[in-house]
Amino acid sequence: MKRLTELYAGKAKTVYTTDDPERLILQFRDDTSAFDGEKVERLARKGMVNNRFNAFVMQKLQAAGIPTHFERLLSDTEAVVKRLEMLPVECVIRNISAGSLCRRLGVAEGQELRPPVFEFFLKNDALHDPLINDSHIITFGWASEAEIVRMKQLTSRVNSILEALFAEAGLLLVDYKLEFGRFKGELLLGDEFSPDGCRLWDAATGEKLDKDRFRQGLGGVVESYEEVARRLGIEL
Ligand code: ADP
Ligand code: UDP
Repeated sequence: MKRLTELYAGKAKTVYTTDDPERLILQFRDDTSAFDGEKVERLARKGMVNNRFNAFVMQKLQAAGIPTHFERLLSDTEAVVKRLEMLPVECVIRNISAGSLCRRLGVAEGQELRPPVFEFFLKNDALHDPLINDSHIITFGWASEAEIVRMKQLTSRVNSILEALFAEAGLLLVDYKLEFGRFKGELLLGDEFSPDGCRLWDAATGEKLDKDRFRQGLGGVVESYEEVARRLGIEL
């Protein structure tokens, strides 16, 4: 399968059409961004690591019954996926307090959240991805009632699967973001799952092994992603 035309260049990935109208190629780039694109750097190997990481997680989720867009790896930095009509919302689940939850509610980082917190954000960099609720989504037509129910159900099932997977590797899944899209009347998990879009802490030491290393200027960003991949048994 070959790239046809560039459909969209995002902050970390470029999306290409292919000769199959129902398939896209996702190219994972080394570009790394934070704070809605205010801080941007190119980190060698990150595209390759995230592409392989995402393929591994998507295949695990698919095997556990989560419908995803992922089809196959195409190269070190590319994957073939189903072309979705993306919903403009981000679904976040939090098992431990961190990030914007702490800033917004003034709670301390590191508290166990039971039951886990579920949040919707509007995917809009210009507005800094504001927190939204079901009512906004319905009124503005960003998704249907049934799709809201399905996104919550799938995001929560993903949590059970991945919390266990990461726990076996000595990692705490602190929080993560998922995006969904429509394909032939069904909602599929789209975009990516990688350390760029989740928080992972070493279960023993609490060391941060995700994009917070980049956000907080801690260094060793890709090395940490590689360490997580190694613990999960992902071949890089
Ligand atoms: P951003 O748009 O936030 O800068 P990326 O650089 O990761 O993010 O760009 C990838 C874009 O591709 C995202 O906007 C995402 O919603 C979109 N996307 C991911 N998977 C699919 C898919 N299967 N079909 C269509 N669009 C997709
Ligand atoms: N996240 C993401 N993309 C976004 C916003 C958040 O992948 O545009 C992820 C982020 O990496 C974290 C989780 O979603 O794992 C929750 O992010 P939070 O709301 O705490 O925002 P942040 O503090 O990262 O700005």
